[in-house]
Amino acid sequence: SKNTTRKPDWLRVKLPVGKTYANVRKIVDENKLHTICESGNCPNMGECWGAGTATFMILGNVCTRSCTFCAVATGRPNEYDTDEPRRVAEAIKLMGVKHAVITSVNRDELKDRGAEIWYQTVVEVKNASPATTIETLIPDVKGNWEALYRMISAGQEVVSHNMETVERLYRRVRPQAKYERSLEQIKRIKDFGKRTKSGIMLGIGETTDEVYQAMDDLAAHGLDILTLGQYLQPTKMHLEVAEFIHPDLFAHYKEEGLKRGLKYVESGPLVRSSYHAEKHVHV
Ligand code: SF4
Ligand code: SF4
Repeated sequence: SKNTTRKPDWLRVKLPVGKTYANVRKIVDENKLHTICESGNCPNMGECWGAGTATFMILGNVCTRSCTFCAVATGRPNEYDTDEPRRVAEAIKLMGVKHAVITSVNRDELKDRGAEIWYQTVVEVKNASPATTIETLIPDVKGNWEALYRMISAGQEVVSHNMETVERLYRRVRPQAKYERSLEQIKRIKDFGKRTKSGIMLGIGETTDEVYQAMDDLAAHGLDILTLGQYLQPTKMHLEVAEFIHPDLFAHYKEEGLKRGLKYVESGPLVRSSYHAEKHVHV
């Protein structure tokens, strides 16, 4: 049987230290912002925060969904903070971020799915830091395409929406999401004229054929950029890791993705959708 209790060497990372890290910490706290780096217990915090970058999570830190891999709290959100866009823009400006990645919780209870706050956030960041490029990692709008178009029309350079896993594992991993609906959302983002990006976590129990199928489906729906990374359990309460995928298989998936017509594939154990995201602006 597979030993999933001990992480292999290739998942060892540096501890968060240093002045830049402390400065990011201070700016995030002072502006009362949330980051997916912290909410997701991301193993790359030492590297990213140490380099002065973070991924902000807007629309609060309570999510209407209960994806089994995710450490963000599930519940009925009571926050609708119209000042948040300004504070995100302020933080990004203070940090001097050249490429900002912004994500959010799901707000299924809002008619507009949070699209207005999304729109205002991108506008405010662009106003405060005109040279900064932006990737918005957006939630599933549950088929509200008007909300989608509002969300993606503020001038961001990249729009990502993560598939997270292969079709068969949706019920177990993203119980409130639908594989086909997320593919359609990506197609609509592409047709709207945006650069599209998505991510899949590996090591949840998917087969190689299922990964190929997901890549075929994504290529057929206009995906430009794909990230593949190792799933890591954020706490003991979350979905278990089925296996640690070897770096060689990650490299192989990259080749397979490119063969299928994806423009750029970032694939490796520590890859997260927001990892080295600055490279995805011009592909
Ligand atoms: Fe944050 Fe993304 Fe870096 Fe992880 S990879 S620390 S989530 S910016
Ligand atoms: Fe986490 Fe996003 Fe799922 Fe909410 S929708 S539980 S924030 S992965």
